[in-house]
Amino acid sequence: MSALTFPQSDTSRRIGDAERAAILADPGFGTHFTDFMAHARWSEASGWSEDEIVPFGPITLSPASAVLHYGQEIFEGMKAFRHDDGSVWTFRPEQNARRMQRSAARLALPELPVEDFLASITALVRADEPWVPAPTGETSLYLRPFMYASEPFLGVRASHAVDYLVIASPAGAYFPRGVQPLVVWVTDAFARAGAGGTGSAKCGGNYASSLLAKYEAGEQGADEVMFLDSETHTFIDELSGMNVFAITEDQRILTPQLTGSILEGVTRASILQLAEDRGLTPVEERLAYDRVCEDLRAGRITEMFACGTAAVINPIGEFRDRHGSVRVGDGGSGETTLSLREELTGIQYGRLEDRYGWMTRLV
Ligand SMILES: *Cc1c(COP(=O)(O)O)cnc(C)c1O
Repeated sequence: MSALTFPQSDTSRRIGDAERAAILADPGFGTHFTDFMAHARWSEASGWSEDEIVPFGPITLSPASAVLHYGQEIFEGMKAFRHDDGSVWTFRPEQNARRMQRSAARLALPELPVEDFLASITALVRADEPWVPAPTGETSLYLRPFMYASEPFLGVRASHAVDYLVIASPAGAYFPRGVQPLVVWVTDAFARAGAGGTGSAKCGGNYASSLLAKYEAGEQGADEVMFLDSETHTFIDELSGMNVFAITEDQRILTPQLTGSILEGVTRASILQLAEDRGLTPVEERLAYDRVCEDLRAGRITEMFACGTAAVINPIGEFRDRHGSVRVGDGGSGETTLSLREELTGIQYGRLEDRYGWMTRLV
């Protein structure tokens, strides 16, 4: 058993208070990075070691590193939230830790123990504490743990050397002008994941293969793409980085069951719980896209939304496909959708009671 602590020897900051304040005033998403990063290394001979908090900066990599050739890489996405009393919290981090272990197993990468994952997050957020934005609007510090095959070797087998890093990036409100419903293109040309593939692992390769479909969506005037199952192009899988939900007239909340080609979202699991506790009946089943369109036209499905850590909950206003389009409700943001969003962000920012024990204090 390893027990990593991620000690910090160099505590000098890259930028000054004024420069950081200017960035935090309008951080955008994923463009600015904090002063530090967490790093650990794994080798087949000695397991996890060399854990430390180091200044954020370029990494050196052999051009022969396996990740650059065969894509052996996984990642996670989570947020640190500042509460009104100045404390800093994160949401269900042990879920991300376990999911990263499942992703690692699928990609033949080493599993990082849950405690070590949590230690890396805690150490980094403590070092980068001034980067956690004040709780105005929906700002947060986005955390990106990732792991990749760094062994310089062109043979095809699991890498004997792996690097794990956590970087952090301040994130502004996802919806600075209020929540905006998505127009979603339903592709029948591309699939996100196939049976037995890597769909349920959070790996970079899934995103590389979804980019072209996202451009196709853009050409159709849509914001996002939705993928159907790869075998029959019948059942809804998910968007390129968000899970999908529908709410029915008779108070059921539907989401595609986890078939192995869908990413097990922490937001998805949390919404199922919140929805059940407010009297909706959660149903996880295969959802045929054609059937969903019929139910939308007949008013049996009244709201739909996508969810994930970045947007939390994003209403869907319209689907477009090769045959036409269908509106969701009146095309705006559904009432239950917005209310679930309010509840989940309320828990995350400490405005509502954390009745499930989902929050972990970091600072
Ligand atoms: C990360 C991700 C999600 C959302 O997961 P959360 O844990 O809720 O952030 C959904 N789909 C894909 C493909 C993802 O990579």
